[in-house]
Amino acid sequence: MAARLIDGKAVAARVRERVRAEVAEMDTPPGLATILVGEDPASAVYVRMKREDSAEVGIESFHHEPGGNVSQADLAALIASLNVDERVHGILLQLPLPGHLDQDPLIAAIDPAKDVDGLTPLSAGLLAQGRPGAFAPCTPSGVIELLREAGAELEGARAVVIGRSILVGKPLAALLLAANATVTHCHSRTRDLGAVCREAEILIAAAGRPGLVTGEMVREGAIVIDVGTNKVDGKLVGDVDFESVSERAGAITPVPGGVGPMTRAMLLVNTLVAARGRV
Ligand code: NAP
Repeated sequence: MAARLIDGKAVAARVRERVRAEVAEMDTPPGLATILVGEDPASAVYVRMKREDSAEVGIESFHHEPGGNVSQADLAALIASLNVDERVHGILLQLPLPGHLDQDPLIAAIDPAKDVDGLTPLSAGLLAQGRPGAFAPCTPSGVIELLREAGAELEGARAVVIGRSILVGKPLAALLLAANATVTHCHSRTRDLGAVCREAEILIAAAGRPGLVTGEMVREGAIVIDVGTNKVDGKLVGDVDFESVSERAGAITPVPGGVGPMTRAMLLVNTLVAARGRV
């Protein structure tokens, strides 16, 4: 294998350690409220891990499970109460919500100063406009952190992002642009994806399509970040065909053990920043 492995677990451990040290210096701990609605087993696992991560670094967690049949009004009232709770600095509404709930107004009801998931329209708008004061969503911020750790020079770099969701692709492109990369954004209608990808010094796949990026689509020496998490035959795989791509890339993230741990770590960073009132 030619490519250097970018170890997301190790980088995430360093990030957590930095947060833990900073929290230890604070008079009152940062507080993270988590809201879990419904019975989705994957969501339950994610929320449990986020609470365990919080406990490990000294962030206090305030967990709410209002029940799968909670009404739109009652959930909005819960968010409103957390918005004014001084012990709570970050609010995480675990998505997706059950079908009877209208997700967008509930996300928008979160106080932008506590929007540690970076999903409110205000956070997204500020980020898109390149203005300060917004939390960026955790996965894209984690990708930027991994690129920096990998020694990537973002300024002037040709970066290609595959995927344009509001959770990953769009905020990631905005963050790369803010770092002065030259960004090309690909999606399901992009013609000749391979040719576009071969231009990339930094290639990020966030499409949710196993094996989408193969070796011949990658420029020699490129840094490749695989955001994809797909279950194939019970195994977790990314969007990047690791075997062929690692023959050509200069550095590459594994799945699992790449972007995933960083997403969790960046939530802690955002909660600390919210508690410091520094966003
Ligand atoms: P999403 O909302 O389904 O968006 C997928 C994007 O990929 C869309 O913009 C889609 O294009 C594009 N796309 C799909 N097929 C494509 C193709 N063949 N060629 C080019 N573009 C294609 O997914 P998401 O929420 O952004 O998540 C993307 C992946 O990242 C998923 O595997 C998800 O599980 C993973 N993820 C991982 C983490 C982590 O912490 N590791 C966090 C979040 C997400 P259109 O817009 O044209 O449909």
